[in-house]
Amino acid sequence: MKYEKDDIVTLVIEDMGADGEGIGKIDGFTFFVKDAVIGDKVEAKVMKVKKGYAYARLVRVVEPSPNRTEPKCPCHKQCGGCQIQALDYGAQLLYKEKKVRNNLLRIGGFSEEVLDRIMEPIVGMEHPYRYRNKAQFPMGTDKKGEIVTGFYAGRTHTIIPNTECVLGISENRDILEILIDYMKTYKVKPYDETAGTGVVRHVLIRKGFTTGEIMVCVVINGEHLPHEDKLAEALKKVKGMASISINVNTQKTNVIMGERCRTVWGSDTIKDVIHMQDGDGITFAISPLSFYQVNPVQTEKLYGIALDYAGLTGTETVWDLYCGIGTISLFMAKRAKQVYGVEIVEQAILDARMNAVRNGIDNVCFYVGKAEKVLPELYEKEGIYADVICVDPPRKGCDTACLETIRKMMPRRIVYVSCDSATLARDLKYLCANGYELQRARAVDLFSHTVHVESVVLITRKDE
Ligand code: SAH
Repeated sequence: MKYEKDDIVTLVIEDMGADGEGIGKIDGFTFFVKDAVIGDKVEAKVMKVKKGYAYARLVRVVEPSPNRTEPKCPCHKQCGGCQIQALDYGAQLLYKEKKVRNNLLRIGGFSEEVLDRIMEPIVGMEHPYRYRNKAQFPMGTDKKGEIVTGFYAGRTHTIIPNTECVLGISENRDILEILIDYMKTYKVKPYDETAGTGVVRHVLIRKGFTTGEIMVCVVINGEHLPHEDKLAEALKKVKGMASISINVNTQKTNVIMGERCRTVWGSDTIKDVIHMQDGDGITFAISPLSFYQVNPVQTEKLYGIALDYAGLTGTETVWDLYCGIGTISLFMAKRAKQVYGVEIVEQAILDARMNAVRNGIDNVCFYVGKAEKVLPELYEKEGIYADVICVDPPRKGCDTACLETIRKMMPRRIVYVSCDSATLARDLKYLCANGYELQRARAVDLFSHTVHVESVVLITRKDE
């Protein structure tokens, strides 16, 4: 059977792809149907036909899947944030567990038997809403010229007006309303991406869940906002407000934050506390430019697993690569002899050092720079040593130069924390072809309702 554009097909969704799209087949021919969930019987309209497969648009759910649920957010279809909100939470967890497993199988080359033996059940959330401690809202204008803010529609830069995202904190709405009121009163224009004109680009809002402290950072195309004090005056009335700052980004780029921040009111940072499993807490100060995990409830569980996998007894030398503000480093330092952290963002390292001092931890040392540069250089020059190496890279995974040095350092254990299981699997394949063995793996749901999934893996030296 040959399909053509605009054909209407009826099919059962049997699987879901990496981006959350429904996948179904008719006589061996595959259809990808966005917004359809596993178990649905759907009617779909063919949009684009390729060799052996086609993309189709959901027309109607003929028989809803038992896994289908009513999304809480009215914008979930247009907004690029939540791809699988229509899938019931239990099924979301199964989908994510399978995603990690499939990548380890297909990209990592690990066998079904090994994965059956070593994979531990995914760690889900008890209350999978309002879990995000951070959001970055783009500011723009609608067709009528009114100021709008919300989220970019999937894969575009069109703003879907929405200040009530169900993943974010409820204070977001009040803060955004204050900002828009201020912009209207003082005729401050939102930034226009195409023309490169206007002022307010984005606003970053972050909250320390344990302290209640809130940070607002307004990203602007310029150095100053007119009547900055008036904005600060209105914002500081929001309960918990602790830090109001300006970030300067005058580049024509879709990178959200510029390099420079200036505090307008309050503190330069906000604080948050992460607890270890024995209840001991570590306090972190976080700057606008520093990375900090967005889901604090699950982060605690994630770090707990990483610490467990590290198997520390108090005598070990640990390297924490891609350490951010030193979160994992400080956790490990409590159980190790000495911890070294490496991170590319200078401000994050300044935060990390302050965080060590603040918590009275003195067996840590932090380096600024690329892991793939700092580590090989130190290895060549100083012959650095590690019992345990922890890596927590961004989505693109570890650079080859970094992996090569890790292999040469021959730590007994490597703990890999990953936000992209495809690059995780690729890097594990390399390390396991070079003397390491897969021991434990566990997915953690840090990003409920999205297709993203975090995982932690332990590999050990084969001769151990
Ligand atoms: N472990 C930390 C941060 C993990 S996010 C935590 O859990 O909070 C990844 C971090 O890697 C970010 O802070 C990012 O700035 C940093 N990074 C990105 N590329 C890097 C590189 N090439 N070398 C070192 N750090 C890098």
